[in-house]
Amino acid sequence: MFKGILIEKDDAGYRASVQDIDDAQLPEGDVTVRVDYSSLNYKDGLAITGKGPVVRKFPMVPGIDIAGTVEASDNPAYKAGDRVLLNGWGVGETHWGGLACKARLKGDWLVPLPSAFTARQAVAIGTAGYTAMLCVLALERQGLQPGDGEIVVTGAAGGVGSVAIAVLKQLGYAVVAVSGRPEEADYLKQLGAAEIIDRSVFSAPGKPLGKERWAGAVDVVGSHTLANICATTKYRGVVTACGLAGGMDFPSSVAPFILRGVTLVGIDSVMCPRPERLVVWERLARDLDVDKLAMITHEVSLAEAIPTAAQLIEGKVRGRVVVDVNR
Ligand code: NDP
Repeated sequence: MFKGILIEKDDAGYRASVQDIDDAQLPEGDVTVRVDYSSLNYKDGLAITGKGPVVRKFPMVPGIDIAGTVEASDNPAYKAGDRVLLNGWGVGETHWGGLACKARLKGDWLVPLPSAFTARQAVAIGTAGYTAMLCVLALERQGLQPGDGEIVVTGAAGGVGSVAIAVLKQLGYAVVAVSGRPEEADYLKQLGAAEIIDRSVFSAPGKPLGKERWAGAVDVVGSHTLANICATTKYRGVVTACGLAGGMDFPSSVAPFILRGVTLVGIDSVMCPRPERLVVWERLARDLDVDKLAMITHEVSLAEAIPTAAQLIEGKVRGRVVVDVNR
C-alpha cells in the first residue's frame, strides 16, 4: 500500500482525498518510481478542484510533475536507484500522476534528474518553470536579444510568471511584470521586475493596435490580456502564449500580425519532444538563480495540497508549491 491523492467522480460527486492505495491498482508502465516530491501547477489545481476538465479517467492520481527514484524497471534506459524527473505527457490527466508516494510510468516519459538540481529544486521549477524556459527559448529562436527592449510577463506572481521573470532578468532583459496583486510588488522586484503594472490595464477589451512598447512577451493569461499585449507589441516583436488563467478566448484582430509583423508563438509543455526538454533543463541549470528559486518556492504536505490547490485556482498562491508526498 502507498499514500496518494485520489480523485473520484461518481453519483456522490467529484472529490479528491488522501487514501491508502494498493500497489495492484497502479497503472501499466515499464518503470516504477518512488516519488520524493511533486508540485502544484495550475493544471493540478483544476484537476483537484474539478474546476476544469483536466482529468480524463477516474479514479485518478493527479500531479503532472514527479521527482523520484526508480524502484523497478523493465526499460533498458533505467535501473533501480536512478534519480528521475517527469513533467507532463498526460500524467495526472489520463495516467496516474505524482501526488502519491509511488507511480508507474512509461520510461520514455522520464528524463534523468538534472545534476544541477536536487529533486526538490527540480519540482520547484516543475512544469511551470520548464514552460517559462520554453517561452524564453521561443523568444530567442525568433532572434530576440536583451537590447531589443522590454519583455512583459503576465500572471507575474504565479509559477510560470515568477520563473520567467527570474530567468529573463538573469539573461539581461528589462522585465515588466503584470500582476493583480500589488502586495507582491516587493517580491516581483526582488525577482527582477523593473516595473509592475496592474493587470486591470490589460484585462478589458482594447483597440486592435495601441502604442508600441514590448519587444517580447510571456503571457499566461490569454483572453483580452493576450489581445492587448499583441496590440502593444513593437514592430517585429515576439509574443509567447502559454496559458489561459484569464480565459481560453483570444479576442484579437490580425492588425498586430499584418501591420507590425508581430509573431505569436504557441507554447506547449505536455507533448514537447524529449530533446527539447533536455535543452530546457540545461538552460535552467545555467540561467535560473537557485537563490531566487528558493524565494519562489514553498512546501506543503500531501494532505495540505488539496486545500492549496483551491487557493491556487483563486489566484492566491504566490510562486511555486512543492509537495512533499511523504509527509
Ligand atoms: P499560477 O496559478 O501559479 O499562476 C497564474 C497567475 O495568473 C496567477 O498567480 C495570477 O497572477 C494570474 N491570474 C490568475 N487568474 C487571473 C485572471 N482571471 N486574470 C488575469 N490574471 C490571472 O499558474 P501557473 O503559473 O502554473 O500557470 C499559468 C498558466 O499557464 C495557466 O493557465 C496554465 O494552465 C498555463 N500553463 C500552460 C502550460 C503549457 O504547456 N502551455 C504549462 C504550464 C502552465 P497575478 O496574481 O500576479 O496577477
